[in-house]
Amino acid sequence: MKNQSKRKIAIITGGSSGLGYAIAEKFVANEIYTILIGRNEKNLKNASENLGALSSYIVFDVTSLQDIPQLVTKVITSYGCIDILVNNAGINLKKDFVDVTDDEFQHIILTNLTAVFSLSREVSKYMLSNQKGTIINISSMASQYGIPKVMAYTASKSGIEGMTRAMAVELSPFGIRINCIAPGFIATDMSAKALNNDPERKNKVLSRTPMGKLGAPADVGDLAYFLASDQAKFITGTVIPVDGGNSIGF
Ligand code: NAP
Repeated sequence: MKNQSKRKIAIITGGSSGLGYAIAEKFVANEIYTILIGRNEKNLKNASENLGALSSYIVFDVTSLQDIPQLVTKVITSYGCIDILVNNAGINLKKDFVDVTDDEFQHIILTNLTAVFSLSREVSKYMLSNQKGTIINISSMASQYGIPKVMAYTASKSGIEGMTRAMAVELSPFGIRINCIAPGFIATDMSAKALNNDPERKNKVLSRTPMGKLGAPADVGDLAYFLASDQAKFITGTVIPVDGGNSIGF
C-alpha cells in the first residue's frame, strides 16, 4: 500500500501482542496506518486482521541486525514513509544474577537494546532526510529501581532510557522527537510469566502500586498515541512512567 493520503505511517516492533498490540489499536483507531513487526507470522496475521485495513505486518526478527537497513528500505518503498517508530519488542529472563550465562545476557541485550539502536539509526537516517518523525522507546520499572532476578533485562532497559536522551539531543534539532514510556506492571503474557507463579513477587508489586492493580495495555497505548501526536510537539527526551504510581510507591 503506497501512502497516497497524508495519513501517518507507523512501525511497531512486537506489535502483535500485549503492549504493542494495544498501541497498534490506538494508532489505527486514530487513522494511523500501522505496520506490525514480529517473528511469529500466525500471531501477526491474526493481529493485523483484527486491526483491519489500516494495518499490515512484516515477519522480521529484530536480532537480524544485518537485515535492518533492508527492512527500513522495504517499508519506505512499499508504504512511502515512516512517521512513527515504536521500539516495543522485548524479552525477559527471570533468573538469579549469578546463574545468568554470558550468552543469555548477550541475547537479552541484543533483542532489547542493540536492535533498538540499529533500527532507530536506520529509521533516523530516513527521518533526518524528511526533517520530521518521532520515535517511542519502551523501558520498564527495572530501570527506575532495583528488581531482583532480572539483571540482563534491567541492563537493557536502563540502556534504552540513556539512548532516549542521547538520541533526543542529537535528533531533536532536526524535527525528530524521541521519548520513552516506562510501563509499570501491565497485564500481558510477559507479566503473567513473571508474576503468576510467584505470589510473593505479585504481592510486592501490588503493595507498592498506590493504585493497587496491574495496568491495562491500553493505558500504554493512550500515552504512545499522545507522544506520537502533534499534541506532544514540544516533548522530547522524556521517560514517562505509566505505572499506577508504582515507581514512587512506598
Ligand atoms: P509480550 O506480549 O511478550 O510481547 C513481546 C512482543 O515482542 C511480541 O509481540 C514478540 O513477537 C515481540 N518480539 C520478541 N522478540 C522479538 C524479536 N527478536 N524480533 C521481533 N519481535 C520480537 O510482552 P509485553 O508485555 O507486551 O511487552 C512489550 C514491551 O513492553 C517489552 O519491551 C517489555 O519489556 C515492555 N514492558 C512490559 C511490561 C509489562 O508489565 N507487560 C512492563 C514494562 C515493560 P514474536 O514472538 O512474534 O516475535
